[in-house]
Amino acid sequence: MSLPTHARAVIIGGGVVGCSIAYHLTRLGWTDVVLLERKQLTSGTTWHAAGLIAQLRATANMTRLAKYSQELYGNLEQETGIATGFRRCGSITVALTDHRREEIFRQAAMARAFGVEVEEISPAEVGEKYRHLNLDGVKAGVWLPKDGQGDPANIALALARGARNRGARIAERIRVTGVEVDAGRARAVTWQADDGGAQGRITADHVINAAGMWGREVGAMAGVSVPLQACEHFYIVTEPVAGLTQMPVLRVPDECAYYKEDAGKMMLGAFEPKAKPWAVDGIPASFEFDQLPEDFDHFEPILEWAMNRLPMLGEAGIHTFFNGPESFTPDDAYYMGPAPEVANFWVAAGFNSVGIQSAGGAGMALAQWMDDGMRPFDLGDVDIARAQPFQTNRRYLAQRVSETLGLLYADHFPFRQMETARGLRRSPFHAQLAENGAVFGETSGWERPNWFADPGQEPVYRYDWRRPNWFGNAAQEVAALRSGVGLYDMSSFGKVRVEGRDALRLLNHVCGNDVDTPVGQLVYTQFLNQRGGIEADVTVTRLDETAFLVVTPAATLRADLTWMRAHAGDLNVVLTDITAGEAVLAVMGPGSRDLLSALSPADLTNDGFAFGSAREIELGLTRVRAHRMSYVGELGWELFMSADMAGHVFETVWDAARARGGRLCGMHAMDCARIEKAFRHFGHDITCEDHVVEAGLGFAVKTAKPDFIGRDAVLRKRQAGLEKRMVQFRLTDPAPQLYHNEPIIRDGKIVGYLSSGAYGHHLGGAMGMGYVPCKGESPDQLNASRYEIDVAGTRVPAEASLKPMYDPKADRMKA
Ligand SMILES: Cc1cc2nc3c(=O)[nH]c(=O)nc-3n(C[C@H](O)[C@H](O)[C@H](O)COP(=O)(O)OP(=O)(O)OC[C@H]3O[C@@H](n4cnc5c(N)ncnc54)[C@H](O)[C@@H]3O)c2cc1C
Repeated sequence: MSLPTHARAVIIGGGVVGCSIAYHLTRLGWTDVVLLERKQLTSGTTWHAAGLIAQLRATANMTRLAKYSQELYGNLEQETGIATGFRRCGSITVALTDHRREEIFRQAAMARAFGVEVEEISPAEVGEKYRHLNLDGVKAGVWLPKDGQGDPANIALALARGARNRGARIAERIRVTGVEVDAGRARAVTWQADDGGAQGRITADHVINAAGMWGREVGAMAGVSVPLQACEHFYIVTEPVAGLTQMPVLRVPDECAYYKEDAGKMMLGAFEPKAKPWAVDGIPASFEFDQLPEDFDHFEPILEWAMNRLPMLGEAGIHTFFNGPESFTPDDAYYMGPAPEVANFWVAAGFNSVGIQSAGGAGMALAQWMDDGMRPFDLGDVDIARAQPFQTNRRYLAQRVSETLGLLYADHFPFRQMETARGLRRSPFHAQLAENGAVFGETSGWERPNWFADPGQEPVYRYDWRRPNWFGNAAQEVAALRSGVGLYDMSSFGKVRVEGRDALRLLNHVCGNDVDTPVGQLVYTQFLNQRGGIEADVTVTRLDETAFLVVTPAATLRADLTWMRAHAGDLNVVLTDITAGEAVLAVMGPGSRDLLSALSPADLTNDGFAFGSAREIELGLTRVRAHRMSYVGELGWELFMSADMAGHVFETVWDAARARGGRLCGMHAMDCARIEKAFRHFGHDITCEDHVVEAGLGFAVKTAKPDFIGRDAVLRKRQAGLEKRMVQFRLTDPAPQLYHNEPIIRDGKIVGYLSSGAYGHHLGGAMGMGYVPCKGESPDQLNASRYEIDVAGTRVPAEASLKPMYDPKADRMKA
């Protein structure tokens, strides 16, 4: 076997995803690309996919990628000569409940804002477009005329041919047996021919794990966590149905089913609520174009519903019962990007049954990312940096993926929480919070109180698009924060100590703000990229001359650590993740000073403890480090303490707070309060593609400081003027709810969408934030417009403001 001994990029895996990466790298001029496939191209999962190619995803960029795939597949045949079977047959999703109608209408509104052609349709119109359908119980539908279907294997083969034509080397029956890592970088792969004969080694500048359901195993070769697990995934295909011609793809999520017409036969696929993990202890070495055994009992409930919904199924015999494995991840989103653990090792795996429709866009985005060395746009939803090493535990994965497969078609209620594999990362306050009625939500494995049930109230979520059962609880918690005192647990904050002779140099290079401050000062800052986009939103506290604490959201800790490490180079600096070692209790509200003064001899007045500073104080019978800052816009302190002191501090503070009418608050209340104050939320309002100046955070960038990443981009933007501005909205009707992605309508025209939304309990209406294009316009012109927000197809008038609607001068935080 003659394979090269060096390549610029070695791709592991010849499914649709690996082929797409090869295709897109070569399109960018990378000819020295090698793809290694252990058996034959497509022989893993790709060959047996149903081939649904939809455009609608949960966020703008995921939709952008799916749209890109769909356009690419439409043109591949012309380019490569391989028929991809791609047809734009359109798709219909129907709702059988009012909840689902709300969901699909909100999705349709969002799709419009993202530039996807979409139409809300009545049951009668559903019937006109899909005459075979039993319309009993159908409440409404959504029609996407440009959605399509295609032949997955041929799409992959066409991508492979496109890559080959531009110089890529694609080798089948070559198994990668190891990935060599040296000094934190992937350097080479070792391989063996399938027949056990030849073997070799290829040194590589970049190694890409596109190994599908083998992705966890291939990640482990390099010491990289890729938490995914295969599940059995089912469909049936009928015998030919007389007179059946091209039909749109049909989804009936309330019955866990999708339908696709293919060559005069009908395919019925299932997303059942409880899935079956497969090969938890390892995929058989011989796996190649394999099928798994039929499980008729498992499929039967879906088939029964389907025969009622599409009576023709009862008449047509079943030609094929197909069961094939597909990989699923703990949060139902795929993985993409550079591995946090190892430089130059990239991941694109775990496609949760949407790999065909995602591969085109994912391949394009990954190739661009590799070529530029930076994300082409925000990919936070799928960034591999969100994966937690503990999630590679196989028992954890088996439990979790049995839920995530079905969630694809479950009601996507806002704040819906996972039910399986919970309770892993508990803050040191966990038991005390649970005793007091905490209802937990999960972020990066952390259990965090989202709201607190009242005595006698069932501490469980009852989801609803309009008024969920916790709506009143959050309102009371916000009232406590605004008028008394509220406590919330922020132990899940990522906390990184940055220490050493060059700690200041590193931080002043990655931060937009100047962190060369006196000891004990807090600095709110962003890590910027070369385009001025925001890579992280953190606070930096100077602990002493050569030691700093970087505090960051739980979900982005690994990404932020990776960013800092990548820029540390040879600097004399040590980064230590101390997240689990320190608990954090936020004490917020106008009553917080009095409360803490009763528990501590420290001078907490403005003279004794200025806003934006941090220092150790005595509290109860111990010492804590108090940081005077607030994400809810009130007077308050975040108390950091070593985890062993958390129980005592909690008892001390909570007993005193309760006696004063204080409340325990959850993340929902915190989010409501922060949006009233227009504080940006990383990942929603601010991402790597949002320029820090357009995000309204220019105040936190000090261009007088030389040589930090993004400085030139900030100077350029200030000179050229803004193209968009972050605007805060409040609906004038107090009834509707906003979450995010709702279209913003300015003077009758869609101009953008909300990047975040929550209910403003203090200001009395749903609130949102979002960017509005404003090239050449003054703030006054922006303010003078008439705004509405599209909520599930209804345009609701909104007030708009460029300044925070709550406490615009920040008097309350500095009180
Ligand atoms: C029943 C079913 C229906 C589906 N329907 C749809 C649909 O309608 N629409 C849609 O978008 N998606 C659908 N999917 C999902 C889709 O098939 C997958 O998401 C997609 O094929 C994943 O592609 P991949 O390239 O990541 O993985 P794969 O196709 O599995 O490719 C990974 C490759 O890596 C190779 N490999 C692994 N380890 C090594 C190694 N050590 N060395 C070399 N090579 C290695 C494997 O042999 C394999 O060929 C469906 C899936 C199933 C099971």
